[in-house]
Amino acid sequence: MRQLIQKALLQFRLDSIRGQILAFAILAALVPSLIVSLIAYAQSRRALTEKITQELVTAGSQAGREADVWLKERLYDLRVFANSSVVSETVARRGQPGRLVEYLNSVRARFADYEELQLVDENAGLVASSVRRASPVRLQEGWEKTFKSSRSLVGEPYWDETAQKMIVILGVPVLQADGRVAGALVARASFAELTQVLRVFSARSVGHVYLTTAGGALIADSRNGPADRKTRDLGPSVAGRLLAADGQVVEHRGIDGIEVLGSAQRLSQASWLAVADMPVADAYRQATRLRDVAFLVIGVLLVVIAVVAYWLTALIARPLRRLTRAAAQVSAGDLPAGLPAGGGGEVGYLTQVFNTMVESLRKHHDELERLSTTDTLTGLSNRRHLMNLLAQEVERAKRGGNSFSILMLDVDHFKKYNDNHGHQAGDEVLARIGTVLRNSIRPYDCAARYGGEEFLVMLSGTSLAPAKETAERIRKQVLAEQFEAESVTISIGVAEYPSQGDTAKSVIGQADAALYEAKRAGRDRVACAVAKSTKKKQKAGTS
Ligand code: GH3
Ligand code: MG
Ligand code: MG
Repeated sequence: MRQLIQKALLQFRLDSIRGQILAFAILAALVPSLIVSLIAYAQSRRALTEKITQELVTAGSQAGREADVWLKERLYDLRVFANSSVVSETVARRGQPGRLVEYLNSVRARFADYEELQLVDENAGLVASSVRRASPVRLQEGWEKTFKSSRSLVGEPYWDETAQKMIVILGVPVLQADGRVAGALVARASFAELTQVLRVFSARSVGHVYLTTAGGALIADSRNGPADRKTRDLGPSVAGRLLAADGQVVEHRGIDGIEVLGSAQRLSQASWLAVADMPVADAYRQATRLRDVAFLVIGVLLVVIAVVAYWLTALIARPLRRLTRAAAQVSAGDLPAGLPAGGGGEVGYLTQVFNTMVESLRKHHDELERLSTTDTLTGLSNRRHLMNLLAQEVERAKRGGNSFSILMLDVDHFKKYNDNHGHQAGDEVLARIGTVLRNSIRPYDCAARYGGEEFLVMLSGTSLAPAKETAERIRKQVLAEQFEAESVTISIGVAEYPSQGDTAKSVIGQADAALYEAKRAGRDRVACAVAKSTKKKQKAGTS
């Protein structure tokens, strides 16, 4: 599991501080702002839905009322016409049908909604019509009974192919003086005036308003003129859903084929529906715009946050990277120069601590180096250090064709001195000789304690003769030193590279041999090694 997480972190480059801070900043900005804007979007959508529901329900019921009024007025008109004496007389076969036709025509001329007015007898037989070659209107089954109960008749609207419009058949009974139904005055009415009413009404209300039959066929529309009935039909299932919703909006495919929010109301005078609807896209445009603006703002916010976080992480990561690099140098054995501690804060403090640590490491390192190359009693170089320098000097002299000299010193009768004055006094002598040697050489020469009371001096770039002079000077100075009880003498052997030895070892050997000669000749003196060529001659002489 942990490996998986680590792999994922690596994949998205989140294993670095920079990646982590960046990811955190973006998440910290993104999550709350996304949640807030989604909540705001949901709330504004809900509020819009409530508002739209109210508006559409109001528009639908008002449109229904308008249609009811229109229907009532038409039936009322017809009743007035039916009560005319010329109608009742003609039905009773007492009047002239010609006069009736004249009457019907005059009525039709005044009321544009009526396509045709017909008078039928009690058997639905045509008595007279306002049009010349009229065919009897087909009345619905049991029309006489309907008259008895409601005294009016409203047919199912249908598409009239010849008139190219929706037509509804309206009828009222023609009564005789005794109240008997003698026939009916029937009108084929169009919806031109009602359409006009809806248009005026919809102009001051929300959305699109229209009337359909109970089966969803369009009757009258606030928006368009005579409709193509075949394509403009809600269909019975949508009509049924709208009716069942009862005062709520329903999302459905509207009369124009696009997704709408709609509300429907059944008329009280007929089984028709008054529908008010609005395209879904329009309804939620405000909320959608709010959402889009929110996303835009979030996008800009993210860019700003990413830039700021990048800048901030650079502030933290840069000194940390410097520290990491410097720490790697320390672990590799290097001691880097102090890091710039600017910036303050934890990282600044860490840098300061790091610098202090490196400084104290450097001090310890220098001290260790000094201790590892120095003889503690005399403060001169130790033997190991001298041998290293000597090897380097041999290389240098070889390259440059130069010479250098070695002085080998030994304290005379030192054992006796120790015995006489104690070991501590002996140590004091060794330390003082160390000081004399240090003061007698140049910075690029080297004086070392070679053994117990033996010293070795390397005189860089110096040939035998001047080396011998230096040896003499040293010998005299040691002699002049005021020691506790008695003066101390030293013997010195001098040898030169390369004439008397072409390796460090051989030239030391030669100096040692010369020292032995000095001792043998009575001590407190300087002896030079014998040149190789001279040696060979001497050897040849003795043999
Ligand atoms: P010679 O003139 O032949 O050199 O006589 P010597 O007595 O100096 O010779 P030897 O080599 O026999 O004695 C050296 C003495 O130096 C022996 C030892 O006690 C003494 N010595 C060696 N190292 C130290 C030291 O660190 N401190 C003291 N006080 N004495 C030391
Ligand atoms: Mg000795
Ligand atoms: Mg000695």
